[in-house]
Amino acid sequence: MTDTTKTDVLIIGAGPCGLFAVFELGLLVMKAHVIDILDKIGGQCAELYPEKPIYDIPGIPTVTGQGLTDSLMEQIRPFNPTFHLNEMVETIEKIGDPLFRATTDAGKVFEAKVIVVWLFLIWERIDMAKGMGDNTKAQENNFTLNGSKELGVEVTFPELASICLSENDRRLAPYDQRLIRPRFVPAMIRLALKFMRKPAPAGDAA
Ligand SMILES: Cc1cc2nc3c(=O)[nH]c(=O)nc-3n(C[C@H](O)[C@H](O)[C@H](O)COP(=O)(O)OP(=O)(O)OC[C@H]3O[C@@H](n4cnc5c(N)ncnc54)[C@H](O)[C@@H]3O)c2cc1C
Repeated sequence: MTDTTKTDVLIIGAGPCGLFAVFELGLLVMKAHVIDILDKIGGQCAELYPEKPIYDIPGIPTVTGQGLTDSLMEQIRPFNPTFHLNEMVETIEKIGDPLFRATTDAGKVFEAKVIVVWLFLIWERIDMAKGMGDNTKAQENNFTLNGSKELGVEVTFPELASICLSENDRRLAPYDQRLIRPRFVPAMIRLALKFMRKPAPAGDAA
């Protein structure tokens, strides 16, 4: 029979968010187990761009993807999280109030009281896209849109959407195909693009 690991919090993903969550939970004296399908800790930073400099971390002028991962590991060391690498969480079910059970493809079973919801991000992004071209609508946290204004470059919605879709595909390409990835929003954007004017190729001034 499979043993069940009981923990306060189960964190799926050992990227920077998962690692910093270990720190915040540790301050609240909550024990975390962290699962990642990758063979290393650090998420995108360690897997996709360990050598690339990052310039937008508050208080740190520059750090590489691997450097940030190493610093986060140093920061969470006192809280001694347990890592489970090369394992994918396949199922999560609610079995109590609050109590969740998760199973991995290696057959491990975890029971934890906490689960995270991420739907807010989709709402926020749809709202930002709706604000394009509308100077009265706040876009303060959208780097791409505000950056284009600073550079004096006109970016239409179809152009921005096309860039986002191809960048999304590029960034997700290295990940295991079994992992959940954004499908609904990209499919909606692709559909919307079919009904919009195609962006003119770069250099086509006429
Ligand atoms: C090329 C590139 C450059 C970037 N440059 C910058 C930059 O300069 N500044 C900046 O702020 N941001 C940058 N980013 C974005 C930044 O890396 C991400 O915002 C950040 O990594 C997100 O952290 P995260 O912990 O939420 O997720 P991730 O880093 O994506 O980690 C999530 C982890 O969860 C694991 N996982 C997912 N599902 C499961 C499952 N079911 N079971 C087990 N494991 C699972 C994945 O394997 C992954 O390791 C860049 C991204 C890329 C690709």
